[in-house]
Amino acid sequence: MSFADLGLSDETLRAVTEAGYTEPTPVQAAAIQPVLMMRDLIAIAQTGTGKTASFVLPMIDILAHGRARARMPRSLILEPTRELAAQVAENFEKYGKYHKLSMALLIGGVQMGDQVAALEKGVDVLIATPGRLMDLFQRGKILLTGCSMLVIDEADRMLDMGFIPDIEEICTKLPTSRQTLLFSATMPPPIKKLADKFLSNPKQIEVARTGSTNASIEQVLVTTTSRGKRETLRGLLRVEDVKTAIIFANRKTTVRELNQSLRRHGFASGEIHGDMDQSSRLKELDRFKAGEINILVASDVAARGLDIKGVSHVYNFDAPWHPDDYVHRIGRTGRAGATGKAFTLITDEDAENIANIEKLTGQTIPRIEGAKAEKAEAPAPRAERPARPERAERPAREERSTSSRRERAPRERDRRDAPAQHHNTPEPIATDADINWNGPVPAFLSVRIAD
Ligand code: ADP
Ligand code: MG
Repeated sequence: MSFADLGLSDETLRAVTEAGYTEPTPVQAAAIQPVLMMRDLIAIAQTGTGKTASFVLPMIDILAHGRARARMPRSLILEPTRELAAQVAENFEKYGKYHKLSMALLIGGVQMGDQVAALEKGVDVLIATPGRLMDLFQRGKILLTGCSMLVIDEADRMLDMGFIPDIEEICTKLPTSRQTLLFSATMPPPIKKLADKFLSNPKQIEVARTGSTNASIEQVLVTTTSRGKRETLRGLLRVEDVKTAIIFANRKTTVRELNQSLRRHGFASGEIHGDMDQSSRLKELDRFKAGEINILVASDVAARGLDIKGVSHVYNFDAPWHPDDYVHRIGRTGRAGATGKAFTLITDEDAENIANIEKLTGQTIPRIEGAKAEKAEAPAPRAERPARPERAERPAREERSTSSRRERAPRERDRRDAPAQHHNTPEPIATDADINWNGPVPAFLSVRIAD
């Protein structure tokens, strides 16, 4: 299946080719035609499967006909966070470069005045977070009666963030004859209910996954101590053939200090964390993309929403507190055929976190001793690689699955509510949505299309 088979216009196809996409992902292959045929659609596919283009591309062609009227956007895309909204806007710019579509972004943290001015003129596409949209609505600055297309993106994140009531209200303000598309990584009951209420005879697409982590990511746990962590990390960075790496830490202070420490040791590193505003984060990301630095130390929240993909290595300086974060973090590597490596430094205190991660991913992750990596700190020539994960010792399965360990596994909610036990200020727990986890693209996915 190629993009050319999907019924898109030549202009859109040209933009897609220029963006470097050669083949549609399974969700794109299944979604684009029904959307072009004006069907309602429910698409369930994990993060990183290309859901954005599966609505942006057909929308561009649908909106190519017709004109916008003042204050009445022709289509509305709801996103849970401003980062995601901005990314969707970038997608419209990229794929819509041969079309003349107007667009407005309605998100928090941006001057309301400019946004209102854009809307006054009339737009083909309005991309908004629900809170800001409701705000504007209440001020009477916007009319949704001319909106014939609605996209509810990242629906499960919307649910996490408490946006469902807002979305329900927004839905009632659009004409009932509209086309509605709903995208989500999962389909919890409240989302199902929302879909039943606001979509009519939707085509349903489900892209099943065979596992929550990608087989082309080589994963290793490296045992170390709190004090030995930096040294262990440096050892790993030196013996591995690191082209580009992201190092995740759980706290902002750790991100900053670790970056400073790495720079002192001669590594070309940079940092992104929650205390930086979006433009500084993007600047740092640009340095990374330009190859000025090849290591980016990041916190989860800051890394979410940034289009960072295909790095050769991911290091978890701290084991993540939430197993979902593990999957998201390591998903930054190992894309489309390339093998990536993910190392997680663990201390005795991480036993529970690791047990939860292994439970979620349904696999036992091989372990190596950090000491081996530390030895490599001695000026090891690049060719010599003492810390190759192949040496990993795999603990016997029985040994791990003792019930005592299972009992100790904390319930997620308890952990989320009790960050105070960590001595540094933790990053705000990621309500900030799941965002562009640029994880595994299609190879391991299979598509089931149900009518
Ligand atoms: P999702 O919304 O499902 O989480 P995105 O739409 O954000 O996923 O896409 C994830 C990544 O995959 C993005 O970096 C995007 O550029 C890339 N991508 C999307 N479609 C394709 C494709 N057909 N070929 C290659 N890469 C793609
Ligand atoms: Mg998405």
